[in-house]
Amino acid sequence: MAKVIVLGGGVAGMSAAHELMLRGFTVEVYERNPEYVGGKARSVNVPGTNIIDPNLFLPGEHGFRFFPGFYKHITATMKTIPLGNGKSVYDNLVSTDTVMIAQAGALPLVMPDNFPTSLKDVAEIFYSMMVASEELTKEDVEFFAGRVWQLMTSCKERYADEYESIGWWEYTGASTRSSAYQRLLVEGLTRSLVACKAQTASTKTVGMIFLQLIYLMLEPKAQDTDRVLNAPTNDAWLYPWIDYLTLKGVKYFKGYNVNALLTANGQISGATVQNIATGEIINVVGDYYVLSVPVEKAAPLMTQAILDLDPSLENIITLAPNVEWMNGIQFYLNTQVDLNRGHTIYSSSNWALTSISQKQFWPGYDLSKRGNGKVVSVLSVDISSWYTNGNFNNKPAQDCEPDEIKDEVWKQLKQELNIDGKVTLSDDMIEFWYLDADIQPITTPITPLMKRKLTAEENADLQKEMDLEPLLVNQCDTWEMRPNSYTMIPNLFLASDYVKTNTDLATMEGANEAARRAVNNIIKVSGSKADLCEIWPMYNPLLLVPFQAIDKKHFNNGLKWKNVF
Ligand SMILES: Cc1cc2nc3c(=O)[nH]c(=O)nc-3n(C[C@H](O)[C@H](O)[C@H](O)COP(=O)(O)OP(=O)(O)OC[C@H]3O[C@@H](n4cnc5c(N)ncnc54)[C@H](O)[C@@H]3O)c2cc1C
Repeated sequence: MAKVIVLGGGVAGMSAAHELMLRGFTVEVYERNPEYVGGKARSVNVPGTNIIDPNLFLPGEHGFRFFPGFYKHITATMKTIPLGNGKSVYDNLVSTDTVMIAQAGALPLVMPDNFPTSLKDVAEIFYSMMVASEELTKEDVEFFAGRVWQLMTSCKERYADEYESIGWWEYTGASTRSSAYQRLLVEGLTRSLVACKAQTASTKTVGMIFLQLIYLMLEPKAQDTDRVLNAPTNDAWLYPWIDYLTLKGVKYFKGYNVNALLTANGQISGATVQNIATGEIINVVGDYYVLSVPVEKAAPLMTQAILDLDPSLENIITLAPNVEWMNGIQFYLNTQVDLNRGHTIYSSSNWALTSISQKQFWPGYDLSKRGNGKVVSVLSVDISSWYTNGNFNNKPAQDCEPDEIKDEVWKQLKQELNIDGKVTLSDDMIEFWYLDADIQPITTPITPLMKRKLTAEENADLQKEMDLEPLLVNQCDTWEMRPNSYTMIPNLFLASDYVKTNTDLATMEGANEAARRAVNNIIKVSGSKADLCEIWPMYNPLLLVPFQAIDKKHFNNGLKWKNVF
């Protein structure tokens, strides 16, 4: 059977290895990280917290993980990772109940994130509406609802043409409306539930994801709008996964950096990988190659020899600066602080914080022998805006020392949770904290081609970058630039969250879908008789199809969207 070399062992690389292995291919994965698998999805052992037992650490993470109910691809793969007793890692997903929008100086809005199934749920909806109505005007709500209705009833051609070119901020008319409108409606859901920036992300991407979430919340049978794992990610998912892959013969090499793709006779003839620990450089050779490193790491691999074989891959270089920092910080508390049973959005936070209190979802995970034995809850926070001044220290997070980041984040959390004299968080609760280790000084290698292609400012930005693993944001008018999973080089395939997919968002779902597409291409070109991996479209309620058909006629006639209801 053909041999496939997978370069990069994050969710995309592991998904590709998994689906290839199931179909009988020989697979080798080369991953830079010497310790952890799963890329940005990994959880980590917090250094120095194995105080009681040398083998037991507090669990940290790059950023908390959530799996919305519209995910189909990654969850399908999870269903085929066995846990024993007929169970799979998919069974480790649990639904949250509520999403909370905290606000400085006002009570939070707490909304059920599934269809209401109890009087309490219904009461919560009305309560949150009542609180919201104090700040939002009726006109705000109606205007926003109109924008959402337009998205629901637009044809897909209008998405590809019109909504791809307009930012979510502009589409929703945010700049001319109140701060409550901006915080609660425009940024609220998108900040917490998709890792993207309302100001710059395209309406095609944000609008589609927004609708998927709304459809889930309104679907009575779907009780899985927002799911999380029932233990730290490594324990609940990535360790069982890597064990299964290696048991089934996948060779996963940790601590190997891919330095170059080699070409000969119009195709890839090998990859140069370097053992990070020893410095040893080797050439690895296979029949097919899946490049599954993220866009900013793929860019330096796009040499002239590669571009001579597929000039369109130059777009990877153009896309490389379209990444933003988004990273986590965790607070380990000696007090049970559960907040709501789901995610919390801090709508007044300048650093765009979101959080989840995790221990309540980890019933079988014992913290008592980790750290100093006093930790009973873990508040995991994602910082999504690293360039705006903090509410208290007036500095962007990217210019702060780790201690300063911790202090400012904690103050921002307290500002929105300690309301009306109620103290939810106090300083003496913190036993430990951990800032993602990716936040450190680095310089991205700038190849001559990147120098030529990118502006001096963009190159300088990559040079002073300090987040080792930033996240792609789908900016306006970049869909056309994003590559497919296949290339014009017959044995090179791409699988990562920047590849064109139905998911169209840098997520674990997008990474898995890209991997499935790459695997399907390999199946086709190799002549394998194996079944193709299933690919799903985004959900589109049947009820809306007639409206979308009318809009398609309008669109084809060069007309604007019109409400025909
Ligand atoms: C803070 C944060 C929170 C997030 N939360 C969620 C969430 O809740 N739900 C969700 O669906 N998505 C979430 N995402 C997005 C999601 O994590 C990513 O889109 C997804 O994990 C990307 O997977 P990937 O395999 O394409 O890339 P990566 O995860 O980046 O994996 C690529 C791998 O390649 C390796 N690599 C890089 N360069 C080289 C090289 N030269 N040689 C060898 N190996 C190399 C890396 O070490 C890494 O392991 C979040 C992202 C962030 C940053």
